[in-house]
Amino acid sequence: AKGKVLVVGGGYGGATAAKYLRLLSGNQLDVTLVEPNSTFVSCPMSNLVVGGLRQINQISTPYTGLSRNHGVKMVKDYVTAIDVEKRSVTLKSGKTLAYDKLVLSPGIDLQLDKIEGLAAANASGQILHAWKAGTETVGLRKQLEAMPDGGTYVLNVPLAPYRCPPGPYERASMVANYFKQYKPKSKVLLLDANADVTSKGKLFKDVWASEYKNILEYRPNMKVTGVDGATKTVRFEFEDPIKGDVLNILPDQRAGKLAVDSGIANLNNRWAEVNYMTFESTVAPNVHVIGDAVQGAPLMPKSGHMANSQAKVVAAAIVAQLSGWEPNTKPLTNNTCYSYVTTKNVIHVASVHVYDAEKKTFLTVPGSGGVSAEPNELEGTYAWNWAQNIWADTLA
Ligand code: FAD
Repeated sequence: AKGKVLVVGGGYGGATAAKYLRLLSGNQLDVTLVEPNSTFVSCPMSNLVVGGLRQINQISTPYTGLSRNHGVKMVKDYVTAIDVEKRSVTLKSGKTLAYDKLVLSPGIDLQLDKIEGLAAANASGQILHAWKAGTETVGLRKQLEAMPDGGTYVLNVPLAPYRCPPGPYERASMVANYFKQYKPKSKVLLLDANADVTSKGKLFKDVWASEYKNILEYRPNMKVTGVDGATKTVRFEFEDPIKGDVLNILPDQRAGKLAVDSGIANLNNRWAEVNYMTFESTVAPNVHVIGDAVQGAPLMPKSGHMANSQAKVVAAAIVAQLSGWEPNTKPLTNNTCYSYVTTKNVIHVASVHVYDAEKKTFLTVPGSGGVSAEPNELEGTYAWNWAQNIWADTLA
């Protein structure tokens, strides 16, 4: 294989793609990764930081492994525009970079303006989402620590699809776990815009009933329309406003800003449509989109594991294209998503997906995957080991 591949975004999708483009091409491809942050902070396991079970440094990894171990050229910058015709990008610093192939994994854009008052309340630090791991994760933890016993933590779930289907339910469980031990008079109010718990529903609800009966309250069909950061009030489409002490508000989400600005998020101006065999954009030739920014085949969740899996499919497809090899017409992806429900107990959901040439999408492999029978400690060990393994696979 010969050529220049530019990877935009060093998250679960992009970092994995950069590494595997080098590995699968026998280090022949010239691979550059553009990412503004110097440290990778993981969203998976960040709910443990919110719940006080882990520290932020335990979920952070420097990017040095990609350059040192694999010869990926790291550029600490931000891509502001893509010129699909010229095959080049413009960086915030003003420089331009040319490519033969571009892998775009920009993650999500949080649509703060979809909830009245949220943008201002978020900018002032009054209301956090902590749906991108980093300073907000630590900030939310501090708000919970500062909250007096007897207070109410309000978390909402936006309408699906959003990043990490079980993520909000895990977060509510982790905060309830913290309250149960340290602030037993406090409450978690979980307000879901969806009609029911959309992932591992029965497992979560059973734990809430057995472990957090007087602490965690779940209400479906509650769509947040507005917030007031000063009075800590949440407003809804139909119901009366609710006041809390710590508000953790998650707005609707769409593909990362660059995908939207460049028109590559062509599905309702929200998610990117791709040819699933190679993840090449349906509107921008030579631009391959992966991770949360992609529309997502049926049942293919917006997860870090899935972004890592898609990255390997894309790396193989690009290496084949730039080598003149036959394409793999049956790529596979898989997903495992662990959720902590108490300090030690964890539940999981897993699935395997295969590309179907006739239907032009990924389908779940019949009989593959599954969910936990019940929360258990062994999966607690598996979950933390899963994180160590995927961080190594993505970044080392
Ligand atoms: P990201 O990992 O967000 O990476 C995007 C990167 O692109 C960022 O580093 C960003 O700085 C960079 N970027 C964006 N725009 C530009 C630009 N224009 N130029 C340069 N760089 C740019 N998934 C799991 O599999 N398991 C879990 O247990 C799990 N738990 C989660 C818990 C929480 C609380 C949350 C919020 C998410 C969780 N997820 C989990 C989901 C997972 O975090 C995402 O699905 C995953 O991060 C998606 O990878 P990505 O590459 O699409 O985006």
